[in-house]
Order: sequence, then C-alpha cells, then structure tokens
Amino acid sequence: MVTSTTILDRAHEIFDAHLGVNKLRRTPERFAILKEVYECDDHFDIESLYTSMKEKKYRVSRATLYNTMELLLDCELVRKHRFGEQQAHYEKSLHHKQHDHIIRTDTGEVIEFCDPRIQNIKATLEDIFDLEISHHSLYFYGTPRGKQKEKV
Ligand SMILES: [Zn+2]
Repeated sequence: MVTSTTILDRAHEIFDAHLGVNKLRRTPERFAILKEVYECDDHFDIESLYTSMKEKKYRVSRATLYNTMELLLDCELVRKHRFGEQQAHYEKSLHHKQHDHIIRTDTGEVIEFCDPRIQNIKATLEDIFDLEISHHSLYFYGTPRGKQKEKV
C-alpha cells in the first residue's frame, strides 16, 4: 500500500527533476500547486483550484496556475479532461488507479469507472498494429434512463 505522503514525495521528485532538466525555476508556488493537486481526490478546474488556494492564503495568480498545470502535464503528473463544453478539468495521475469517465449531460456530474476490458482492447490494438500505446481518451455521455424522453 502506497500512502499519499510517499506519492506526493515521488511527484515532488519527478517535478523537481523536470524543472531542473528544462532549466525552469523551482519556485515555492509551483511546489505548493503540486501539493494542492495531489491532496485533491477529485477532478477540478483552474478556478476551483485558484479559490481553494486563495482560501489557504497562498499567493498564486491564475497565470501561474495555468502555467504550472502545463508543466505538470508535460511530466505526466496530471491528466487533463474536457468533459463537456465547459473549461478543462484536471486530476492527479501518479499511482492513480486507471479509470475512464461517464459524463451526465443533464447535470455535468462525472462518474469514474474501471473496466479491465479497456486494457484488453489496448493490448489487442498494440499487437495488431505493432504499436506501443501511451495513452487513450474515452468518454461516455448519458442521462439517466427514461430522462431522454422527458426532454421532448
Ligand atoms: Zn477521473
């Protein structure tokens, strides 16, 4: 069992190395953002991250948040999602259980699910096309049964 502290430590190491290799500054703000991201167990957008950090008295601008999220994406410490028309959502990715998403189009609620058959599809595609698949993007959209008819 990997505790959340060691996951954050590992994420910190990866981020630190990434900043070093790319000759980017290791600012306290960037590491504070990483910590905030790894303490969050749900999907979030920049605005909610900004609000929650502001409440904790961190002095980070939206520009710094956007910029840092791009860096975290570059070193694959976060996943970025477009669940609908609204702005991008993010979630931590290190040691995070492989999962995909269902989006309720009536409420915007995001449901996570894990189905091993998706890994099987990936393995089959790799064999057929002789490729190594690095990642995938899969979203299901729906409304509760019976609700579709009410709309008409
Ligand atoms: Zn998710």
